[in-house]
Amino acid sequence: MTGDTAAGTFDGLRAIVTGGSSGIGAAIVRRLRADGARVAVFDVQPVEDSPHSYRVDVADDASVVAAVAEVGDSFGGIDILVNNAGIGAQGTVADNCDEEWHRVFDINVVGTVRVSRAALPWLRKSSAAAIVNTCSIASRAGLPNRALYGATKGALYSLTLQMAADHVREGIRVNGVSPGTAATPWVQRLLDTADDPAAERTALDARQPHGRLVEADEVADAVAYLASPRAASTVGTVIEVDGGMSGLRLRPQ
Ligand code: NAD
Repeated sequence: MTGDTAAGTFDGLRAIVTGGSSGIGAAIVRRLRADGARVAVFDVQPVEDSPHSYRVDVADDASVVAAVAEVGDSFGGIDILVNNAGIGAQGTVADNCDEEWHRVFDINVVGTVRVSRAALPWLRKSSAAAIVNTCSIASRAGLPNRALYGATKGALYSLTLQMAADHVREGIRVNGVSPGTAATPWVQRLLDTADDPAAERTALDARQPHGRLVEADEVADAVAYLASPRAASTVGTVIEVDGGMSGLRLRPQ
């Protein structure tokens, strides 16, 4: 059940969560810590007074390399990497300029590459190494007005499978989660642009097959499973946490 912990699952294990200051990332940090991990948070907006919170822009290789080295040294190793930092973009291919395409790809896709590249030497030394990438319902669905965002998340989905193939023999499991529309500050910011945010939220809930938005803690549950030794034989899998949005072909009600 959501929010239930498996205390001790991650005892002695050390993790990095990117984009861990807000929403889904913050839920993942809470969950891994509750289950015993030491967790470093990488975010452009680090949480004040939080332990192991690093100001890292995943689009800036120097800040990534320095922070990964600092975490590896201070924790004495790195076992788990959750590549969760991401930004949204709206529009069709007619709407976003080249700079926007480069910027969103640089964060959502190359950001994952940068942090993974820096962490790999540490992960290779771990006996419980796991990477989990936060993909999206937009990875494989055609969503209107999400050409750029969907393309980055499609690339991330494919990258997850490529990384899984490349590193499984080194003992590093790579998997992903694919959230549906989740109740996070990101989605709240979008709702707040509507004339009637409460009515828009009700309509958004009703559009989900299971009748409500996904909770960040539900995504964190899936990440915690994939990152844990319980998932030792699960490699190159992307778990959909989307109330059935991707898998079902429901007729409109
Ligand atoms: P959020 O905006 O609440 O949190 C994202 C966090 O990432 C923020 O703390 C932000 O500061 C950080 N971040 C942004 N750019 C960064 C950068 N360059 N370097 C480091 N940190 C950076 O968003 P969320 O809803 O929790 O989304 C988290 C992830 O989940 C994203 O990858 C998003 O694409 C994915 N996702 C979200 C939804 C949803 O409906 N909320 C659905 C599917 C996938």
